[in-house]
Amino acid sequence: MSDKRWISETLFDELGFRMSFEAERVLYEMRTEHQHLVLFENKHFGKMLMLDGATQVTTRDEFIYHEMMTHVPIFAHGKAREVLIIGGGDCGIAEEVLKHTSIKRLTQVEIDASVIEFSKEHFPEFTAPVFGDRRFESVIADGMKYVAETERRFDVIIVDSTDPQGPGAVLFTYDFYAACKRCVAPGGVMVTQNGVPFFQADELVSSIGHFNRLFADAACYVAAIPTYVGGHMAIGWAADDTTLRPQSVEAITERYRAAGAFPTKYWTPDVHKAAFALPRFIADRVERAKR
Ligand code: SAM
Repeated sequence: MSDKRWISETLFDELGFRMSFEAERVLYEMRTEHQHLVLFENKHFGKMLMLDGATQVTTRDEFIYHEMMTHVPIFAHGKAREVLIIGGGDCGIAEEVLKHTSIKRLTQVEIDASVIEFSKEHFPEFTAPVFGDRRFESVIADGMKYVAETERRFDVIIVDSTDPQGPGAVLFTYDFYAACKRCVAPGGVMVTQNGVPFFQADELVSSIGHFNRLFADAACYVAAIPTYVGGHMAIGWAADDTTLRPQSVEAITERYRAAGAFPTKYWTPDVHKAAFALPRFIADRVERAKR
């Protein structure tokens, strides 16, 4: 066993297991105003950011989550111009959103300025194109306060939050989703980071229950992200326009072509469509949450 430090996720301590990563180098570690932050290098996953003992992003598998949180709602919508990201401090999602030249304005509301500052230093592949784009607006604020007060309306809202702990807890509440509903423009859609149902089913059931009271179409889609341990990750879906979700592969392909068919590493029109076909244990939970 090398004398290098092993850094463990503590997110699932209650369930009696931990995912641990060998740190080649610890690049940064501090308690910010809002949470404990550690950034380190792992020989397989590259740079890894953990907040309060939960893996947020790694250089090696970031593309899966970032592409699926971004391209699914934007291509399903088809005419999005105004996008809001809640959280997202590493700017991985913002970088994907700005690949859509049809987007006129992107606003990101992140509570912790430290996450952005250190991402500028350690994740330039995300932050450089984003902060160099005049369509991008960075707001340092609590996402709950922002959606409760803003007069703006958004075609797509992407909630790229931490887990429902610490500053992220409020982003899974009925009041937060109700305030987001107020900010969704007609025909708009909201998607949410909603955990891994195999270990965090209650979180998904709670969110779907809230969506179901607020929107005509409450659902989720899935993607498999190696460092979000637990198999499928659920991405919550909430919209009033019930035609957005069942788009055909042909329609999505046409929109992707019209957007210049920029390169992707995970998302494709077929993967987009298939992501809404849920394994039964997840589909049952979603249906039960809507009763
Ligand atoms: N993809 C990651 C995941 O699934 O766990 C999330 C990545 S992103 C780094 C999460 C961001 O949400 C963090 O930078 C955190 O500071 C931010 N955040 C947490 N609570 C927030 C709040 N109430 N308002 C705005 N941002 C918040």
